[in-house]
Amino acid sequence: MAKIDKRTILEPWQDSNATPYIQIKEISKSFDGVVAVNNQSLDIYKGELFSLLGPSGCGKSTLLRILAGFEDPSHGQVLIDGVDITNLPPYERPVNMMFQSYALFPHMSVEQNVSFGLKQEGLSKGDIRDKVSSMLHMVHLNKYASRKPHQLSGGQRQRVALARCLVKKPKLVLLDEPLGALDRKLREKTQFELVNIQEKLGVTFIMVTHDQEEAMTMSTRIGLMEEGRLRQIGSPMEIYEYPNSRYTADFIGDMNFFDGIVSEVESDHVLVQCEEISSEIYISSSADVPLGANVTVAIRPEKIILDLEEPKSIGKKKRNYGSGVVSEIAYLGDMSIYHIEMKNEKIIKVSLSNQVRLSERPVNWGDEVYLSWHPQSGSVLTVD
Ligand code: ATP
Repeated sequence: MAKIDKRTILEPWQDSNATPYIQIKEISKSFDGVVAVNNQSLDIYKGELFSLLGPSGCGKSTLLRILAGFEDPSHGQVLIDGVDITNLPPYERPVNMMFQSYALFPHMSVEQNVSFGLKQEGLSKGDIRDKVSSMLHMVHLNKYASRKPHQLSGGQRQRVALARCLVKKPKLVLLDEPLGALDRKLREKTQFELVNIQEKLGVTFIMVTHDQEEAMTMSTRIGLMEEGRLRQIGSPMEIYEYPNSRYTADFIGDMNFFDGIVSEVESDHVLVQCEEISSEIYISSSADVPLGANVTVAIRPEKIILDLEEPKSIGKKKRNYGSGVVSEIAYLGDMSIYHIEMKNEKIIKVSLSNQVRLSERPVNWGDEVYLSWHPQSGSVLTVD
């Protein structure tokens, strides 16, 4: 029996033989000399929930609008399922876009809003009724079919917009900040609902967001953009654990950066001399860096171990080690962030989960503390 590689089924982008479903080829777009998207290529696979993430103005909405057909690229091609759609108008593309405002028809009921697109397709009344009913069940709105949008909550309106988008069975659904109008609690709940519905239907979603937590929670992969370029494409875990640049490391989550000089490079490790913390940093993974190169080592706050006593494991070499004084503690409920000030005034951030109550916390303001981390915890960055 042929061996099935589950990783390539779940992560088709790992499979060099897999055929991409959406192909963005060398797309550029300029507006009066302003380059919004700069010669970018990207392959997306069937059933993915791909997020375009980045700060305001980085070009993510422009790329989404090019996929929808609302914007013509200055250069490049878009293919869906092998078919070049670059020159097709929006209504002829197998694509549906859900806007942040949801753009529901205020005078129509939920049912009428969802059936609108199907009526335009000229389907029979019975067909439309069945499709709309099963879609309203899927988004748990069957009891609200006769309500008007103003009689619904924000989360319910979001689900009507989603149902209207999905009922036509598009090959690709585009979502522009789909949860932007919802409050935090509802947003978190809706993130899971949206992923469940997307997985159930197996439809490919491309979503624009500037919220990194949202992208991390929902996406199969993230494309992180800066000034019209995709700086890194990867699964949430890859982007978080193995950032390819200081930009990515800084954009996703919190990070400590240490500048240093490479003093040893082997196939299984890199050693960096780091004057600012008077320590060597040993990283137990290879990196494509020459001896003597100036690099930045990035270490997440949650990877740093905080001790009141000097840990015995540090040994004479004092690698992956630092010490300082607690200058700030931010209590966030589930966790606390400690700012540790070193002799040279550099601040290192350390996060600890609050498994003990505040009154029993072992580390306090003004405490002298020791910092250490595992060799797997650091990433060597050579690009800004
Ligand atoms: P946001 O999160 O703020 O929506 P974004 O990453 O989606 O930002 P875009 O809307 O794609 O960014 O804009 C990218 C760049 O292109 C910006 O500098 C923007 O000012 C410019 N731009 C976008 N649309 C137009 C337009 N119709 N005319 C002129 N410039 C535009």
